[in-house]
Amino acid sequence: MKVLVPVKRVIDYNVKVRVKTDGSGVDLSNVKMSMNPFDEIAVEEAIRMREAGTATEVIAVSIGVQQCQETIRTALAMGADRGIHVKTDEELQPLAVAKMLHAVVGHEQPGLVLLGKQAIDDDANQTGQMLAALLGWPQATFASKLAAGDGGLTVTREVDGGLQTVWVKLPAIVTVDLRLNEPRYASLPNIMKAKKKPIAGLTPEDLGVSAAPRLKTLGVAEPAKRQGGAKVASVQELVDKLKNEARVI
Ligand code: AMP
Repeated sequence: MKVLVPVKRVIDYNVKVRVKTDGSGVDLSNVKMSMNPFDEIAVEEAIRMREAGTATEVIAVSIGVQQCQETIRTALAMGADRGIHVKTDEELQPLAVAKMLHAVVGHEQPGLVLLGKQAIDDDANQTGQMLAALLGWPQATFASKLAAGDGGLTVTREVDGGLQTVWVKLPAIVTVDLRLNEPRYASLPNIMKAKKKPIAGLTPEDLGVSAAPRLKTLGVAEPAKRQGGAKVASVQELVDKLKNEARVI
């Protein structure tokens, strides 16, 4: 079974995000970019499935600017077998990404698509669900445990009330949550080996999909600055402040 893992290049999670002065978006100039952390977890899980013999090939696919190739190389250095880069400079939104992944699935015929539950830049949490709808495949989102068997996957999902276990028939879409695994670091020999692994280049036109955005960003603003805290000398003072300053009791 082939496993397709879509990996998104996003602003690194350690970077303090700055909003552009004109409020049109986030400033990405000279900012460290990395693979979306949930996608690293998806790559790790796919490699573990291949190591366990439930998957035969792991294909990392990234859609976006030229530098997405670095993100694919990271997946290849972790252990993915080959990459696909769909190159576009358009501002990407989940529906366009899902449509392009739909077309890639048509070419590759994977038995499983493992995505991150959300990308940490736009926090959309939509692509996996939209892809499942376009394909008409079963989906299991927010996976924290996967086990293959009976022509399908048993997936433990992290839901508000705790954990839910579902079984999905393959082919299926699974989106992964934080506690599924701890991704491995790529070793130096594997980084070197990854340079020789193939990355196929495509464009949205090759896939017959328009990458043009459908939503317009009206404005981006930083969250309001928090007021500094204060120490109170007594419970009486606290109650007084809650009543008369914060007006919450
Ligand atoms: P989102 O719906 O934007 O929160 O993204 C959910 C998941 O979809 C990500 O964790 C990735 O697995 C995948 N994804 C989103 N955008 C891209 C992209 N441009 N290239 C590859 N995969 C993507």
